[in-house]
Amino acid sequence: MSKKTSFDITVLPGDGIGVEITPVCIELIEKVLTKLDADVSINFTTFEAGAAYYQKTGISLPEEALAHAQQSDATLLACMGLPSIRYPDGREIAPQLELREKLDLYAGVRPVKTMPGLPLPLADERGSQLDFVMIRESTEGLFSSRESFRIEGQGQDEAAYDTQKISRRGCERLFNFAFKMAEQRKQKGKQGLVTCIDKANVLGSFYYMRQVFDEVAQHYPHLEADHIYVDACALQLVRQPWAYDVMVTENMFGDILSDLCAGLMGGMGMAPSGDIGENSAVFQPCHGSAPDIIGQGKANPTAMFLSAALMLEWLGYQHQNQAMLDAANKINQVVEAAYATGDLLPYELGGSDGTVAISSKVFAMLEQ
Ligand code: ATP
Repeated sequence: MSKKTSFDITVLPGDGIGVEITPVCIELIEKVLTKLDADVSINFTTFEAGAAYYQKTGISLPEEALAHAQQSDATLLACMGLPSIRYPDGREIAPQLELREKLDLYAGVRPVKTMPGLPLPLADERGSQLDFVMIRESTEGLFSSRESFRIEGQGQDEAAYDTQKISRRGCERLFNFAFKMAEQRKQKGKQGLVTCIDKANVLGSFYYMRQVFDEVAQHYPHLEADHIYVDACALQLVRQPWAYDVMVTENMFGDILSDLCAGLMGGMGMAPSGDIGENSAVFQPCHGSAPDIIGQGKANPTAMFLSAALMLEWLGYQHQNQAMLDAANKINQVVEAAYATGDLLPYELGGSDGTVAISSKVFAMLEQ
């Protein structure tokens, strides 16, 4: 186990409800470290960035924030973007995408783990005990043509094009990441199954992706490998999501399916994520800035708490640091315990528990 005892975290609260849920999340991490008397310290450095900052300054991600994120041990980001504030070409301000590209964060990890005590969409008992992971490629796919969109032809022949990129390097590193995650999970009693989601029956780029998946799978004979077409996958995620362990897919498919997965968990406020590269990682709730509930105290901090746990776990594995792994476990445990009381019902599930009620309950579980 490592001797590293001090970690630097870049904090980007961003826009909208991000500013409301970030302080309680940092408070939770600090309380957990104190409670465990952990032999580590975390230095949080907060930067303004995002749509509101762009409106004020004309810059969405300041140089010093990017530089800090490149050098720190990890970044904790809440959410960025506001529909009313856009670049002159009409696109939304999304420096989190820029960060993904600059830090080369290729694996978008979206754990799908349901909390007890919630009236979830899948009434089946197994539907309320889900535990699988959706991994979304985050640097290429269809979204990689974001900057190279083109219109060709004129009149009735005019057409708009976005081009999908699926590279060997992108696939190999993504699939190796997925199989390694399945290995880690198998050690904790999970299935050891990796399912590749594609559309190989229609598009050549996905057929190519599937072939590389099969090649990589051969290096992990102790794990199971499977494929599913994205349309069938959407059906199965509603019908029997408990059948999956680690799922891996292209950028845009992952963008869409991870929202479906958030639905299975009870809403965007429940869904954590990590965007992970070789040496850097950004952890953030799956949700956006939720302009409809800004300033009303309705924001659910759970997704951000679970993203913080994912961050501590990643740091624990990266640095072989047991204190960080313990802190990650503790956060997961107290959040689960808070929901297991049956006293919490977030707004997204028709209840009236927001930032204060949910974080207070989680803090109370930590004190027990
Ligand atoms: P984006 O367009 O970037 O995805 P968004 O905030 O408009 O951002 P979602 O993140 O998909 O969209 O969220 C959809 C809706 O879900 C929000 O408008 C809000 O009502 C609800 N929501 C999202 N996150 C939370 C949260 N943490 N707590 C409570 N409700 C939330």
